[in-house]
Amino acid sequence: MQIYLTNTLTRRKEAFEPADPKRVTLYVCGPTVYNYAHIGNARPPVVFDVLFRLLRRQYGVDAVLYARNYTDIDDKIIKAAHEAGAPIEALTDKFRAIYEADMGALGVLPPTFSPRATSHVGDMIALIQKLIDMGAAYVVPSGVYFSVAADEDYGKLSGRSQDELKAGARVEGEDDKRGPSDFALWKAAKPGEPAWDAPFGRGRPGWHIECSAMIETALGSPIDIHGGGIDLVFPHHENEIAQSETAHGHKLARVWMHNGFLSIDQEKMSKSLGNFVTVHDLLAQGWQGETLRWALLSAHYRAPLDWSEDLLAQAQASLDRLYGALLRLKDVAPVLPDDIPGFLGDFVNALCDDLNTARAIAELSALATVANGAKDPTIKARAKTELVEAGKLLGILQDDPEHWFRAAFGDKAVEIDVLVAERVEARKAKDFATSDRIRDQLAAMGVEVMDGPSGSTWRRKG
Ligand SMILES: [Zn+2]
Repeated sequence: MQIYLTNTLTRRKEAFEPADPKRVTLYVCGPTVYNYAHIGNARPPVVFDVLFRLLRRQYGVDAVLYARNYTDIDDKIIKAAHEAGAPIEALTDKFRAIYEADMGALGVLPPTFSPRATSHVGDMIALIQKLIDMGAAYVVPSGVYFSVAADEDYGKLSGRSQDELKAGARVEGEDDKRGPSDFALWKAAKPGEPAWDAPFGRGRPGWHIECSAMIETALGSPIDIHGGGIDLVFPHHENEIAQSETAHGHKLARVWMHNGFLSIDQEKMSKSLGNFVTVHDLLAQGWQGETLRWALLSAHYRAPLDWSEDLLAQAQASLDRLYGALLRLKDVAPVLPDDIPGFLGDFVNALCDDLNTARAIAELSALATVANGAKDPTIKARAKTELVEAGKLLGILQDDPEHWFRAAFGDKAVEIDVLVAERVEARKAKDFATSDRIRDQLAAMGVEVMDGPSGSTWRRKG
């Protein structure tokens, strides 16, 4: 099936054709690891994980190379380590591990490559030196800067003109740069800060150069797709393009994709508003990672997404309905996808249409309706296969349905099991007063019992 993607660079939805279908390359800007990831930070890794899964389905698991970096050196990290009285590496190692655990809980597959900036400083130095040698970058006491005047195309991704850019805000400590929108490739060493030796003076890399260098090392260029949050279009991605395309004389990426903003209860998320929601906290509050993932995918990736308790409750109810359908089909053996005519056609079509997860989710819901109404064993088997295989592409519904509901109740699950078993005994003994009393007791705990031919199972009450 043909995949269509909206390219920020051309502002159009285009048929996606990788340069080499046997080697499809994707790069997404990763986190700066100095604190817990907020839920807005989780949107790009989840969105691009769905793209990664779709590309793997289309071109083959081994044909897709996906790199997502860790920024493990920058001003915020240095400040946070200083405040914590901890070595920088201890801080970044800790939050890198937390980030990986959070992403695991959200069902995000590990990318093929996860390069860390500090492991690639040599590559960045070589790239900066090349730009200096070409006359596109210059050395001054505060560091090395890219000269925006050297790049005629500068501003093409964000659609900003050179005049608009000249009005750019001044950055503290960069008084000696020549042009107002020139940006730092290298920051001269300061006392108490980590620094690396370089032919143009001791210092540390700027942020933008790390992605340009790591893309080249991990994937080569041009890459097929470069992704990230919409907030990265300017200046980060604009600067990545300027550096890489000036140095290499060809495109950095053929398709640029950006996901929309995430707000909290209609407001911008910020520490000062006190509405800063971390993935870590949401998991600690008992929300299942899959529920967070569903909520993040409930809107089209390019649209803004408003995060709220309601959104989470809806996501949980939708997943419960799907897991409820799978629970009912517990004893049904799935069939081979090849044996199903038009297997997942509409569902995959929705994802191929610029990753329309909202429409894919609606298709999934329709599949659950078919599953719930199925009497014929063939239709049941097909419905189960389609639900599980569609879930795989979205990164959901891979849990055992009983475990899904048990996990939601934590320690209470065993107590519920005992009550359900007691109720089965009471029913066998035709003691309906006891069986009804237990059913009511379970209902008060938010549990619904489902009696079937192979025994009684339970789920969270809708
Ligand atoms: Zn980047």
